[in-house]
Amino acid sequence: MQKVIIVGAGIGGLGTAVALHQAGIPVTVYEQAEAIGQVGAGLTLWSNALRVLRRLGLAEAVIEAGAVIEEAQIRQANGRILSRSYPGQLAQQLGEPTVAIHRADLHRILLAALPPDVVQLGAACTGFSQDEQQVTVTFADGRSAQADCLIGADGLNSVIRQQIAPQAKTRYAGYTAWRGVAAVESRVARGQTFEAWGHGARFGVVPLSNQLVYWFATANIPPGQRQEANSRKETLLRQFKGWHDPIPHLLQTTPAEAILNHDLYDVPPFTGWSRGRVTLLGDAAHPTTPNLGQGACMAIESAYILADCLKEHASLAEALRAYEAQRRPRTAVITQQSWQIGRIAQWQNRFACWLRDGLLNAAPDHLLQKRLVQTTNFMI
Ligand SMILES: Cc1cc2nc3c(=O)[nH]c(=O)nc-3n(C[C@H](O)[C@H](O)[C@H](O)COP(=O)(O)OP(=O)(O)OC[C@H]3O[C@@H](n4cnc5c(N)ncnc54)[C@H](O)[C@@H]3O)c2cc1C
Repeated sequence: MQKVIIVGAGIGGLGTAVALHQAGIPVTVYEQAEAIGQVGAGLTLWSNALRVLRRLGLAEAVIEAGAVIEEAQIRQANGRILSRSYPGQLAQQLGEPTVAIHRADLHRILLAALPPDVVQLGAACTGFSQDEQQVTVTFADGRSAQADCLIGADGLNSVIRQQIAPQAKTRYAGYTAWRGVAAVESRVARGQTFEAWGHGARFGVVPLSNQLVYWFATANIPPGQRQEANSRKETLLRQFKGWHDPIPHLLQTTPAEAILNHDLYDVPPFTGWSRGRVTLLGDAAHPTTPNLGQGACMAIESAYILADCLKEHASLAEALRAYEAQRRPRTAVITQQSWQIGRIAQWQNRFACWLRDGLLNAAPDHLLQKRLVQTTNFMI
């Protein structure tokens, strides 16, 4: 393998570049944005992602920049706790902790593991062509670049996927998500995350390091109706009025202009991730709704497996076949489970929610813990 091109410098693209670089495979990443990783939100990296990051030599940096999560709760809007699980125990059960980290910190750590000239910014890919010898990638500014292999890590609305697998269509989950980061650590227990479930709406709270708290909120709305930046805070304060402390306080404390809003989509699992010299990775290949907090973790797992397949297999065709064979079953389960959890968590009907909350409250903690171990148990 003389040269690999990756389109997209998200967590998936950068993670793959690090894994390829460490495997001794030359790689260039082309990213449409002019700067990397300025998303004002956090994310949870479960034990499975930490296991891969450990192999890449990055686990300690991530743990240091983030905050270890010991306990995760599901609550009602009034604060009553319905269930508990213990991500902290995964460190004993699976060997790695669960870490909440600011996205900008994760991007910084991944970028620092690469030589400075690997990532080319301001390069919006428009498509590719290929023949027996090489693949040619084209960019909006008229540039082009050649390589032996192209990896489309260009996210949910991947242009590479549209060329390889046009049959794979995004599906709207039925709810939108807002995200923000606030500086109110003292009102949030360290090491403890929670998600409060209401009727057709949820609010999640995740303590980060440095006195910061990452929060996310969801609500059922038709697609394409998300608000402009200036009305988001007002809408959220109205939507979550009366929910338990610290929810309204977190919203009050977050700068209005820093609140993100995205409608949530996935793509039902599909076959045929690769065509010739080209393959897909991360949200381009297996986008999932965020209900299990596993999208970026799956991208990190796929990054490691793809680099390993490219290193170990004699032919590119074999490597890409082996990659999809290893990754599709696991990512398909995550995508489908996350979709189902999201549907139940977003129920709006009062009787259905009462029943749901009662069942959740009755479920023994050890069953929830077992489920958590199954989801995060990824051995490499
Ligand atoms: C509300 C919410 C909460 C989440 N929480 C979690 C969580 O707690 N834990 C977790 O593991 N996951 C979480 N996720 C999922 C996670 O964010 C994604 O799965 C992950 O970011 C996917 O990474 P990626 O690199 O594949 O794609 P992206 O992050 O979408 O990156 C794609 C990159 O490609 C670039 N690009 C796109 N098109 C082009 C083009 N034509 N040319 C050049 N560059 C291009 C983009 O600019 C971008 O930089 C969450 C998602 C949401 C929406």
